Amino acid sequence: MLKPGYTLGILGGGQLARMIALAAAPLGLKTHIYAPEDGSPAFDVASAHTQAAYDDFEALERFAGAVDVVTYEFENVPVATAEFLAARVSVHPGAGALGITQDRLAEKTFVANLGIEVAPFAAVEDEASLEAALAEIGRPAVLKTRRFGYDGKGQVMIREGDDAAAAFAAIGRHPAILEGFVPFIREVSVVAARTEDGRFAAYEITQNEHRHHILYRSTVPAEVTPAVSAVSHEIARRIGEALGYVGVFAVEMFLVVVDGAQGVIVNEIAPRVHNSGHWTLDGAVTSQFEQHVRAVAGWPLGAVERLGHVEMTNLIGDEANSWLDVLAEPGAHLHLYGKAEARPGRKMGHVTRIFFEDDA
Ligand code: AMP
Repeated sequence: MLKPGYTLGILGGGQLARMIALAAAPLGLKTHIYAPEDGSPAFDVASAHTQAAYDDFEALERFAGAVDVVTYEFENVPVATAEFLAARVSVHPGAGALGITQDRLAEKTFVANLGIEVAPFAAVEDEASLEAALAEIGRPAVLKTRRFGYDGKGQVMIREGDDAAAAFAAIGRHPAILEGFVPFIREVSVVAARTEDGRFAAYEITQNEHRHHILYRSTVPAEVTPAVSAVSHEIARRIGEALGYVGVFAVEMFLVVVDGAQGVIVNEIAPRVHNSGHWTLDGAVTSQFEQHVRAVAGWPLGAVERLGHVEMTNLIGDEANSWLDVLAEPGAHLHLYGKAEARPGRKMGHVTRIFFEDDA
């Protein structure tokens, strides 16, 4: 168990690491960020940082010696890096959870084997297996690379009449997964935390709106039935349990209506704090970032209740130029990530707005 004054090591230096470090400080912890990129947003707010590659084992050795527990902010940390560190210091979540969640095929197989519904899927290695998968699953379907996909990158829709070989070429002919297209009515997610000794807490299911494949807005409460709300927590609990997960994670789901009743289909697991949980920063008793720190530190989990109707809006690219307007808006909470350059599609910050129930 960590104690105040100990150091939390974080792999990755983006906004998620930055917000974890910001949450660790009032709990009396120091943070040490390990990231390869120059000027990583988290470097600005941490006690120490190492700028080195994930396969620089000498730098990793020194990092392991300087921290008391290691966590990470993104799922593409090489498993070999996590394993190297785990031989020297506690790493949460563990390399096993990382290995499953960074491969879409392993992840979908894992979730399906728990008896949890996912879209129909098949492995794709080449044009022949893609044709076989299309014959089995039908069209429209979504072809996704097994690894390194995010925000809609590395995926392509295959509709009636589309050329399958061209679609495979479009994703770089990488090992892939073909999924049946889910006619969802909304996208929702559950952010949850689990401790090493099996304690579990889930935030209320969140409704997510995407634009150009990037999360645009999250709102709670979501427009879902109480049954879906309960089922989504049960799904997260079972996934966390089966992974032996330690820390905060998110389960992204599609909300569907079958025979007049709402249900959910799991799309993806994110083994980390998640953009759809940013509303908890100002909108819940305990933020997902503090919750993650508590979980990996082996501490009691915090309360997850929301404080009102909450809306979180991302500031993408130039939208961050509106920072002064946001500041001028009573009750709006501005979060900027300290990124130097506002490239199109880049997440620069977010705003949370809380509408207290008394105001309704
Ligand atoms: P992903 O990278 O798997 O999170 O997918 C990015 C986005 O593509 C999702 O948020 C959905 O809007 C859409 N999408 C992905 N898979 C499917 C699917 N099987 N059916 C329908 N839409 C999908």
